[in-house]
Amino acid sequence: MQTKQYSLILMKKQEADTVKKQCKMCGKVTLFTDTTIRRHNANGKNIYQFAIYKCPKNHSWNKKLDIYKSFTNHVDPMTLVPSEFMPIEGGEKISLSVSANDSYEINITGVEGNFRLDRTLADHIEGWSRTEIAQKIKSGHILLNNCLTKPSQKLSVHDKILITVNK
Ligand SMILES: [Zn+2]
Repeated sequence: MQTKQYSLILMKKQEADTVKKQCKMCGKVTLFTDTTIRRHNANGKNIYQFAIYKCPKNHSWNKKLDIYKSFTNHVDPMTLVPSEFMPIEGGEKISLSVSANDSYEINITGVEGNFRLDRTLADHIEGWSRTEIAQKIKSGHILLNNCLTKPSQKLSVHDKILITVNK
């Protein structure tokens, strides 16, 4: 029996942000769309956060979002997530093997907004409906922080979802 560990950051789905702006490459005012990709650049003791926008012809524009001072020993937040955790990306669904007697642990490493346990799992597990998930929560095959919980339970940061299959 093996436990596969994942990490998941829950963020509100955002409407793609657009900005009307001169594109230097196109040589005209055009509509830039936020790709939602974020980039961090260190410059001396400052860390700059950029949002990557693209014009319809795929030219990039980096919109400066934040500047924050780094600590002398700056810790990249990404390094705080243990490396054995496989990150589940925003729109990604993981598939859980039903033949292996494995268990799966999903660690919530960030939450922005309200997320129900059952809906979150339905959004991120391939082929599992919300109804099936609700049944697994009630039967104890899905535990939250090693405890029985309810499908409508709201998730918070550092929550650990334990899923056992093939039982
Ligand atoms: Zn352009």
